Amino acid sequence: MYMMGAIQVKTLLMLTSQLSGYPIPTDVPLPEIKVMTDAEMAKEACDGDLLCPVIGFFQHPEDADDHKEHIGIAIEDGFDLNATAIHELTHWLQYHNWPQPHDRRCPREFLREFEAYEAGMRYSVTYQHAVPPKDGISFPGTTCPYTEKPWATYSGH
Ligand SMILES: [Zn+2]
Repeated sequence: MYMMGAIQVKTLLMLTSQLSGYPIPTDVPLPEIKVMTDAEMAKEACDGDLLCPVIGFFQHPEDADDHKEHIGIAIEDGFDLNATAIHELTHWLQYHNWPQPHDRRCPREFLREFEAYEAGMRYSVTYQHAVPPKDGISFPGTTCPYTEKPWATYSGH
């Protein structure tokens, strides 16, 4: 495990801000990103179960034992580290831009994942020449049902 360097974090955060449309808050320190092997991620996120499906997480400070926010991403075959970081940094930007960021009710939880997957997809298409999936993107990790326009209820987020 290592901490991603501050310059790389800042660069990825600027990209994420552009891709997601959220401004970077000026009143909070830069996030720290822990880069882990898949075994370390399994230990951290799945009680050591090596079939752990988690490749990244943003832990809200109110859910953390030390009341600090945590971002972790795993080095896994077939997954781009930067795209995973952009997904989790979108959650970080949402957290610092949304009112009541710890409100986990639907459909806002769907919106949270929708925006993060969309930013990751935009990154892959724009910078890595990925082909956008014809059938849209899926949203593993959300506990809310699919909503046609989750943002309609939340003008200005
Ligand atoms: Zn997510």
